[in-house]
Amino acid sequence: MRANFPRKYSYMNSTIKLPDSWQTLLSQTLKRPEELFSYLQLPDSLLDDANRASLEFAMRVPLPWLDRIEKGNLDDPLLRQILPLGDELDTVPGFTNDPLEEMSSNPVEGLIHKYKGRVLVVLTGACAINCRYCFRRHFPYAENRLGPEQWQKILDYITADTSITEVIFSGGDPLVSSDTRLTQLLNDLQKIPHLTRLRIHSRLPVVLPQRVTESLTTLLSQTRFNIVTVIHSNHPQELDPSVAKAVKQLSQAGVTVLNQAVLLRGVNDSVEVLQALSEKLFSIGVLPYYLFTFDPVKGAAHFDVPDDEAKQIISQLQNLLPGYLVPKLAREIPGQGSKTLLIPNQE
Ligand SMILES: *Cc1c(COP(=O)(O)O)cnc(C)c1O
Ligand code: SF4
Repeated sequence: MRANFPRKYSYMNSTIKLPDSWQTLLSQTLKRPEELFSYLQLPDSLLDDANRASLEFAMRVPLPWLDRIEKGNLDDPLLRQILPLGDELDTVPGFTNDPLEEMSSNPVEGLIHKYKGRVLVVLTGACAINCRYCFRRHFPYAENRLGPEQWQKILDYITADTSITEVIFSGGDPLVSSDTRLTQLLNDLQKIPHLTRLRIHSRLPVVLPQRVTESLTTLLSQTRFNIVTVIHSNHPQELDPSVAKAVKQLSQAGVTVLNQAVLLRGVNDSVEVLQALSEKLFSIGVLPYYLFTFDPVKGAAHFDVPDDEAKQIISQLQNLLPGYLVPKLAREIPGQGSKTLLIPNQE
């Protein structure tokens, strides 16, 4: 297997001069398919479809991500995650707008309480990157931000339920929020005595690692919570030295860093890539957590990998890697009390 894996995940272009502040980077994401096509030298024949697909779900590519894509390579695994394609416009039976039925488990707007002991708070609908396979691509809250009244209702809900010990900041991407805002939110949460853990689900340490500033790590290290950050990386080529640095800063602040990935056709649907991903993650201080099977969201059927194939890939991975480097193959089934594992002995 390894002999067939000559490809080095070197860092392609490194020609883009990046601005210093993460806020500037966040405001300078690429949104027009023409710009992407011209920068990466992609064939014009795909541009019309890209424009049409981006009307359904906007294209959004941060510059640090663009910098890791190989020019002219339509099979580049990072390109495939952000390139709007004509395939997205196909209607495929069984692929729906809200595959997880999340719109119906919000006791309070902005809060999802599906599992015992932990609640998910949707801080913002905004992301630094728009992943074409995202199951939130049709969510009505798109760019909504949690307002003060809503936040107070969420605090009241958590305060009233002493079985809740962990709050998960999610989105969109919660680290799109400013440090000032995060400080306020954390101060409020710290007053709730039964909370012990804070979890942050964010793709920013990968797609825009400049977000992990000293002020953020200081802020996190000063709370009384045990903090877990679950980053989201699907392919080892995403993990360049700037990502390694961001993870190191989080770890030094006492944050446990885990990774979740989504199994995607044409991106990471092979034993070789997933093995390299786990090894690369561990080498920068991250443990693999979940590998999610793809959610049947409308417009993204071309990313689907059938369950049997997914299970086979993970079984092979179990033979190649130590147990702690094998992610749990999981899916979210509406109505279940936890994620559902596809391979029982991974429980
Ligand atoms: C995935 C998820 C969680 C976290 O589940 P873990 O198994 O603890 O990682 C919590 N709440 C919701 C609504 C989720 O979708
Ligand atoms: S970063 Fe996460 S929430 Fe945002 S588009 Fe990508 S997968 Fe979806």
